[in-house]
Amino acid sequence: MHCAVLTFGLRLMLIAALVGIVFTAHSSVTDTTHASSNSQPKREVHALWAHPPSIGTNVEAVRKFVDQCKRANIDTIVILAKGAQGELYWKSKRFPQAIAKGFENFDFLENLTSEAHAQGIKIDAWLCDFIEGVDGAAYREHPEWAQINPDGGTTATEKLGHTKPYGYVWMCPAQRPGYVDQWLIPMFEEVATSYPVDSVHHDYVRYPGDVAPDGYCFCDYCLAHMPKYAMLSYQTRPAERYRVKFAQPRIEANWWSDPTMLPADWDQMDRREKADFLLNGRTVPGGPPDMRYFFYDYRLHQIKNYVRELATHVRHVNPKVAISAAVFKNPVLSGRFIGQRWNEWTPWIDVFMPMTYRSHFAGSFESYLDHLTETTARQIEWVNHERPIYAGIATTYLYREELQPIDDIRERVTEMKLLAPDDSRGRAEKARAIKLGFETMRKHLAEVSPDAEREIGSLVLTVTANDGRDVTPAALESLAARISRFRSDLPAGYFPREKTLAVN
Ligand SMILES: [Zn+2]
Repeated sequence: MHCAVLTFGLRLMLIAALVGIVFTAHSSVTDTTHASSNSQPKREVHALWAHPPSIGTNVEAVRKFVDQCKRANIDTIVILAKGAQGELYWKSKRFPQAIAKGFENFDFLENLTSEAHAQGIKIDAWLCDFIEGVDGAAYREHPEWAQINPDGGTTATEKLGHTKPYGYVWMCPAQRPGYVDQWLIPMFEEVATSYPVDSVHHDYVRYPGDVAPDGYCFCDYCLAHMPKYAMLSYQTRPAERYRVKFAQPRIEANWWSDPTMLPADWDQMDRREKADFLLNGRTVPGGPPDMRYFFYDYRLHQIKNYVRELATHVRHVNPKVAISAAVFKNPVLSGRFIGQRWNEWTPWIDVFMPMTYRSHFAGSFESYLDHLTETTARQIEWVNHERPIYAGIATTYLYREELQPIDDIRERVTEMKLLAPDDSRGRAEKARAIKLGFETMRKHLAEVSPDAEREIGSLVLTVTANDGRDVTPAALESLAARISRFRSDLPAGYFPREKTLAVN
């Protein structure tokens, strides 16, 4: 079975804050431009997702980045073109108001594409679809395009975790005219016609799922169209109601008697009441509360319909441009939670890049390898072997064991700073945890960087001596600063190579 191959240096990942590596797991990749000289289709692809702000806004920085990719055997750079705040990294003529700050005078996409092509590397322009910034141009100019929850709020009113404001506004995929046809599709068209990119890449091609998965969209448009989509009542003779004929003893078995499902007082209901009916109502009175089946189906339809429309438009304006998508690892599960049943999109997506990050699995590194293998095999079945699957691996998560002790020390130091002066018990507890964190990484650290081991070791000792009783703010500050510097510039070899080297 295939294993992930990571050939680029760790330093590269750190400098450019890159995420990901992908490889193929498909037996009939038709992309012959990547074929090796023996004319066998290439079965393995190396790609990465990259963010322009971590690369730079001048020709030299872009060239340096492309050189690094070349040395790392990267075939495709999936470059962020429209970020999660709605900001653009190309010099858009149609949406100049959305261009990212700092990128107004440097056409990043143009520069990267020409440098990459000169090195034989493909460019996949990555657009975040339905997520926008609270201060982004789309929401500022068209607040009416946002997704709305049963209380009438946008996703920006949600909390991430228990307190943190969510900070993003998701746009409604259903409204026409709306965000899809007035904003998103024209953006993809502009990229596909103004730049010689090899492909365009969907991301966030779904409903919001990290906050309130079942909360969207109940905008006026969706409230009007959901019942229409599922034909919960007839548009003609809407006032006539048809009752269930209970001919069968099993209540649900009477669904075929064509009952009117929409309540008679639908028009008088407010948003919350309508949403409650669409989520918790019953198809057949007395039957199970199954109405949300239609809600899920409506959402699946909206996302799939958008994927289809986008492909039609992009292929019309530039038939040479391929289309790829970053998707969740399990299309059956993501169909239910975020409207993303991506295995049904094979006519409109040329390459799937599931986010099979280790952070989406429980267990050890070894468990991850097994689950990744199993999941990738299942994904190939889900798409019926019709399209290549590139397994997306967020490399940072591969090193949970190596990074955890550093993060633990950092967090405990921060907590220790906040303790009351007389809290000696709390101080002792934090001191023990810091000591333990350091012990966990010490041996490995001594092997790869004896200097760092000595320096950090002595700072840890100062902070934790005597159960932390004598600790000074200056000592905590020094340890925090040193650990932070260490974390952002890890010594070569700190990440064990065997985690990312290929085995067949
Ligand atoms: Zn809507």
